[in-house]
Amino acid sequence: MEKQTALKQYFGHTAFRPGQEVVIDALLNGQDVLGVMPTGAGKSICYQIPALLLPGLTVVISPLISLMKDQVATLTQVGIPAAYINSSLSDAQYQTVFRRATGGAYRILYVAPERLATADFRSLAVQAAVSLVAVDEAHCVSQWGQDFRPSYLKIAAFLDGLPRRPVVGAFTATATAEVSEDIVRLLQLRGPLVVTNGFDRPNLYFEVAEPRHKMTYLSHFLDQHRDQCGIVYCATRKTVETVCAKLREQGVSATCYHAGLGDEERRQNQEAFVYDRETVMVATNAFGMGIDKSNVSFVVHYNMPKNLESYYQEAGRAGRDGEKAHCVLLFSNRDVQMAKFLIRNANANETLSEAEREQVLQRDLMRLEQMVGYCKTTDCLRSYLLEYFGEARILPCGNCGNCKGQFTERDITTEAQKILSAVARVEKRYPSGLGIALVIQMLRGSKGQRVLRLGLDHLSTYGIMRGIDQQTIRSYIDHLISEGYLEQTDGEYPVLRRTVRSSDVLFHGAQVTLKEKQIGRWERASGSRLSKSEIRPADGTAEDGLFQMLRDLRMQLAQKEGVPAYIVFSNAALLDMAARRPRSMAEFLAVSGVGQVKARRYGAQFLRAIRIWAQQGTDTAED
Ligand code: ADP
Ligand code: ZN
Repeated sequence: MEKQTALKQYFGHTAFRPGQEVVIDALLNGQDVLGVMPTGAGKSICYQIPALLLPGLTVVISPLISLMKDQVATLTQVGIPAAYINSSLSDAQYQTVFRRATGGAYRILYVAPERLATADFRSLAVQAAVSLVAVDEAHCVSQWGQDFRPSYLKIAAFLDGLPRRPVVGAFTATATAEVSEDIVRLLQLRGPLVVTNGFDRPNLYFEVAEPRHKMTYLSHFLDQHRDQCGIVYCATRKTVETVCAKLREQGVSATCYHAGLGDEERRQNQEAFVYDRETVMVATNAFGMGIDKSNVSFVVHYNMPKNLESYYQEAGRAGRDGEKAHCVLLFSNRDVQMAKFLIRNANANETLSEAEREQVLQRDLMRLEQMVGYCKTTDCLRSYLLEYFGEARILPCGNCGNCKGQFTERDITTEAQKILSAVARVEKRYPSGLGIALVIQMLRGSKGQRVLRLGLDHLSTYGIMRGIDQQTIRSYIDHLISEGYLEQTDGEYPVLRRTVRSSDVLFHGAQVTLKEKQIGRWERASGSRLSKSEIRPADGTAEDGLFQMLRDLRMQLAQKEGVPAYIVFSNAALLDMAARRPRSMAEFLAVSGVGQVKARRYGAQFLRAIRIWAQQGTDTAED
């Protein structure tokens, strides 16, 4: 069989995506591969098609049990014999899989890395003549990465121990240069073809908002995304609980996930989300690794994460099916304090020396700074992300909150002068300095206890910004920090200090301008609900009656078979089906994502549904 034929026949796709074909060719020619491709780029097909075309068995090493189960279900659905071996199997199940695998019943076998070292598995690998080993989430081999797994270090020895070394393909979505080098070295890849597909996820819309009331913002956002699945990430378990409870009160179909829940509850909640029984998952960052749910349409960060690596990984769980998806981060200055606190109190790695620990701390704080920079920038957000991950800018992307957003530029030189001279007075009077909160209170002329006790009311700058709210002054100070006129010291009690540059503003006529996002319509009309027409999505696709009906049918079929809906068909496939409205099996096969086996299994039912819909709705079908 040809790779092109396999692509259509099994997976129902007509063309390879960027990167897929070269990877497949290399593996088929016996060359090792390191594929660095973003989530949703289609890494699985890169080894699944070679698995179909090569003799013998393909072993896929994967760190996550839930992911394996999902992949095997997907493969079985399209008619590729596959199985997995991990700790979730009973003894009897294990025996069956083992026997069938050695007998050559499967094309693809997923295993957890811990298995590789066992004598059992070695003998299986020899008998089943493993010809390809695919290492999924290959960055787990590197200590530089976030998800280091010691068992990944055993992969090289496993390959060495085989009578004939199989060709090896390593895949990851997250690899800096160090991690890539680690992967090649520690997996002992031989003259690998390195394919870097870039980090860009064109179908994701990035946005940062700084709403006054996050909860109100979130409710409106979910209103606009009714009927879609999504994740809301929060920084702490407590926030998860609160947000989830409030959403439920408002009638949102929400569930939650964090490390404080019992195993069983976590499993149930996760399943409810994966199987679309609940549409919104409110979770800490404990949720997600190994979730292969492809129809996640939005990821909201209720709090800012600690670094852009985490942010991009978590936000990247949206839109894996290639459909448009929305990633919004709700920023507040309190998030920065919270993140600092979490970084300083993180469990220190015991094996590190004092100096190394300090190094890690400084690195983490620097990453945090970059993360805050993302929230504050008024430039293209996508460019900011890509640049951070070492890629060329594509400016402006035209598809992010900043590219689409409206900004106003405001001259805040007078305000800046007031703040800077206040800090100057403070420095004279209190050489050890004061924290931001006190400086703001002093500027606003507060009669707070600490202000009076410290005698701040005797300074000439006391009350010079009376009448301006705290948040606004705070945003000026943040701006002065980011422009390098002020700095905030590190340590337990950070204080504000002027920099040498501050004299430019105070004495040499430098102007300070602030770019501000225009406040959203609904925020001004505080709390008032929008009318229906305002919250409908602009394009009617999601509202399309046929699409809805196909989704319902998919849900019924998925429930009957006990698999998640997206395993039956992806949203992308249903949208294409709704657009094409196939009338025959041949037309059905032309739908993107429909292969031979799925056409045989589901074709008749979908064709029938489309026919009935067309008969009933001829008056509304065409627009
Ligand atoms: P990754 O593992 O890189 O995150 P997947 O392998 O899960 O990505 O693929 C993501 C989605 O892209 C899947 O829904 C898959 O069906 C789809 N896909 C992969 N390759 C193609 C292709 N050549 N044409 C159309 N869709 C594809
Ligand atoms: Zn942009």
